[in-house]
Amino acid sequence: MNDQHKFSMHISDFWIMAAGMVTTALALLGVYLLSHVDGDFNIMGWYALFIIPAGAILVGIAAGSGYGLVSWLMGRKVNGSLLAIILVLLVIGYGSAQYVEFTGMQKEYPTLRQISFFQYYDVSTRSMTFSLSRSKTSTGELGILGYLFRFLELAGFAVGGLVIPLMLKSKAYCEGCGVYMRKKDIWWLAAAVPNRKIPKKDTAALNAYAEEMKSAFENGMNVSQLLIKAARERNIPAFQEIIARALPVKEAQKLEHRIEVRLNTCPRCSDGIFIATLHSGHGDKSRSEKIAGQPVDSGFTRSIPPATA
Ligand SMILES: [Zn+2]
Repeated sequence: MNDQHKFSMHISDFWIMAAGMVTTALALLGVYLLSHVDGDFNIMGWYALFIIPAGAILVGIAAGSGYGLVSWLMGRKVNGSLLAIILVLLVIGYGSAQYVEFTGMQKEYPTLRQISFFQYYDVSTRSMTFSLSRSKTSTGELGILGYLFRFLELAGFAVGGLVIPLMLKSKAYCEGCGVYMRKKDIWWLAAAVPNRKIPKKDTAALNAYAEEMKSAFENGMNVSQLLIKAARERNIPAFQEIIARALPVKEAQKLEHRIEVRLNTCPRCSDGIFIATLHSGHGDKSRSEKIAGQPVDSGFTRSIPPATA
């Protein structure tokens, strides 16, 4: 079935939608309750670097978790049409919460019964204020600019809500069984020599080190390609010979460049896929790049030995 070009619904979508609406309602109820405990505590108003609606993104992640969790449990492949449904429901959920809050305010303040929801929303948006954390100075009422922050809040919430479903979309999936694959094994290959300190004046040693690093990197990339080739050709002896050179994860993590070869398999039929990823650097300078992917059948995944570390 090719559902990339047409809008299609599955039976499981009912449960996914129901679960997502429940987590959305709970997340927004949580925001509401917290703001009632302390009037200044508005998670939706947390911004990072003035413009990134960090609080709304966090609330969105919680709101969208039900969509992601039940999609995963029911083996529903996340595709464009499901993401579109989720996005629409997140926006409706956000709008409903605003409306519910308004009707609650009407009960509390009878004068509000004379105005409509949209009038209230407009006034409350224009009278929003922005203040830096721990400082008492405020911008004063934002006026029309309040709409920019309303927009950022909604956008952050919607983007946050799609985070978990999008993570699922990138997960390996068995089309035949209609389930998400699971991680079966990971092997680590070196693509660098261990770091060592060399005095800056010792150019000969520095050059030798750079040379060693370069050839270790090339060697690592070659070895990972050979591993993928062995998987493609179902060559078990060749595969075993290469994984015998795999490093324990702790050792691999210390290297400047290391290659992760992950085997995901289907929990039902054991068909799988190898994914090789190059990881470089550490901490906030770390980056990852997928370098190869190779589907394999159950006969192969069952006959290779498990990773030792
Ligand atoms: Zn399967």
